[in-house]
Amino acid sequence: MRPVEEIAAALREKGLKLTPQRRLIIEVLSRDRSHPTVDEVYRQVLRTMPEVSRTTVYNTIREMTALGEIVEVQDYGDGGIRYDTSAEAHHHFFCRECRTLFDLDGDPPLPERYGGALEGAAIERQQLTVYGVCPGCLKKAR
Ligand SMILES: [Zn+2]
Ligand SMILES: [Zn+2]
Repeated sequence: MRPVEEIAAALREKGLKLTPQRRLIIEVLSRDRSHPTVDEVYRQVLRTMPEVSRTTVYNTIREMTALGEIVEVQDYGDGGIRYDTSAEAHHHFFCRECRTLFDLDGDPPLPERYGGALEGAAIERQQLTVYGVCPGCLKKAR
């Protein structure tokens, strides 16, 4: 995500106001690399501003998605869509035990590697997930 001030300017350009509630939601998002769901963001926001509604959180997240600041991550079937606050292409590792979604560094896969299926296609977004059990959960299981 870009700094909050730049996002504020982008919102103003679209005729949207940056209310204190929205600012807080954007700040929470900008600090959170855990790929939170709407409800997880909502719970964090409530700690500072108990009067904020879930609808405001939801709408602000939708606006941030429309601006391209955050992207939807696929649904892992555990409580709704998660949001990635890094819009740069990257892979994920999903631990089926603790349900943590880890960012993986490194280059995104090259479309060329997939051969004919992608030939002539316009790639808009890449999202690959490696599934398994993270080192921490494996240690606990032993
Ligand atoms: Zn784990
Ligand atoms: Zn990510």
